[in-house]
Amino acid sequence: MLYYSTRDASSSPRMVTAAEAIKEGLAPDGGLYLPETIPALTEADFDALLSMDYPERAAFLLSKYLTDYDPALLLEDCRAAYAPEKFPEPDDPADFGQRPAPLHPLADGITALELWHGPTSAFKDMALQIMPRLLSRALVMTGERRTAQILVATSGDTGKAALEGYRDVEGVAITVFYPTGGVSPMQARQMQTTRGSNVNVVAVRGNFDDAQNGVKRIFADRELAEEADLCGFFFSSANSINWGRLAPQIAYYVSAYLDLVNAGRIRMGDEVNAAVPTGNFGNIFAAYLAREMGVPVKRLICASNRNDVLTDFIQTGVYNREREFYKTVSPSMDILISSNLERLLRVLGGSALTRDLMASLAKTGKYEAPEELMEKIRSAFSGYSLDEAGTLSVIGETWKDEGYLIDPHTAVGLGAVRKYREETGDPLPVILASTASPFKFAAPVSAAIGLEEAEGGLYDGLRRLSSATGRPIPAPLAETETLPLRFERVIDPAGMAGVPFEH
Ligand SMILES: *Cc1c(COP(=O)(O)O)cnc(C)c1O
Repeated sequence: MLYYSTRDASSSPRMVTAAEAIKEGLAPDGGLYLPETIPALTEADFDALLSMDYPERAAFLLSKYLTDYDPALLLEDCRAAYAPEKFPEPDDPADFGQRPAPLHPLADGITALELWHGPTSAFKDMALQIMPRLLSRALVMTGERRTAQILVATSGDTGKAALEGYRDVEGVAITVFYPTGGVSPMQARQMQTTRGSNVNVVAVRGNFDDAQNGVKRIFADRELAEEADLCGFFFSSANSINWGRLAPQIAYYVSAYLDLVNAGRIRMGDEVNAAVPTGNFGNIFAAYLAREMGVPVKRLICASNRNDVLTDFIQTGVYNREREFYKTVSPSMDILISSNLERLLRVLGGSALTRDLMASLAKTGKYEAPEELMEKIRSAFSGYSLDEAGTLSVIGETWKDEGYLIDPHTAVGLGAVRKYREETGDPLPVILASTASPFKFAAPVSAAIGLEEAEGGLYDGLRRLSSATGRPIPAPLAETETLPLRFERVIDPAGMAGVPFEH
């Protein structure tokens, strides 16, 4: 299986192996890598997958795409990435299905797919625990002798998830920059207490753009690249546009379907819908790939918060990023450019069109997709958005009616399911991607279920939410209270370029 760039419209496109695609991240023409075909699962594949455990399922599905990787090593990597030390058994007796991504039944045939049992209590762990291992293998397979130095500018969750994924992985090192004015106290604490011998975390005075621009400048600086080369490393990114981050996400949709079959809640072949709280369009594109591989997902419900650029796009065909940006209670979806949408445009609309639409987006901040393409998109996707009040009331109702605590991102997804069902009357079972632990967003969640504002600090708020709901604080969040603070340095943006050389 070879990979091509979404923007390569030449008659014989440049093709690379999976290892090369994962090592490069972004294609040289600025496009994203896609596999030349989407492999179809046979009936025999489904039968075999039914009786596998999660790491086996993940390795089996990855091996359909990463054909240059040794399947035995893929299995070894999946076993290590999804080990019980990283993703412990869920403690809710109502949960069923498989660790690391168990299922929780809700009313009306909706099932929450809990993707947040990993080291940072958010769904990015599902990809970022395995991706560094895939990169480490790719370096060996491509004959790379230098260390990959991962640079991350983060507004919160990605930084910590990347640190946890890359720490102590051979052949890589990681430096994370976060803005002093732009991450939550818990997020800062999580990063400052990170373990590992190949990690570095530095706060940058300013906002997210200052940190992001600093990283972009390092990537663009040729002299720095040469200097790095002399020191035996090269700069690389952990961005969600990397194929190595997207491919592992397919597994949990396939696995959730099989677990529903194994639990007797559906029969093999029955149709379901899937709902995904969406930001960069990575998670929902993985669900789309699972659908194209043969999992009977009829409709993909793309859920957005007040930053509803995708809802508008699906409805009108116009993608317009020139709009007000809102900070919401579901911050990981506060995004105006959903990078992975480019992959869907390419699969359904072809490379020449994709290249033109992306050029238009870069130049004018918007594009209009032709009706023919929109019909294809609408045959698989529906888009809905929820405002802040709607999000909080879904959290409150779900707690009151079902005794199930959800985070604001998941609430946006559940609200979208309700809107979809009201509008269409489609009663099919729904797999709802649950993307973060409610304890990660304890303040708005506490308010939504009617708790008075907590006195005291961050951890008092967590403890109060825990004692009011009987749900335990996830260990990765609780332990940050007592872990030593390893990284407390604050620098000016001008000092960022020197930091990667400190390793
Ligand atoms: C990153 C994130 C999302 C958005 O996922 P995309 O793949 O970017 O669409 C949703 N919820 C949470 C909690 C996240 O961290």
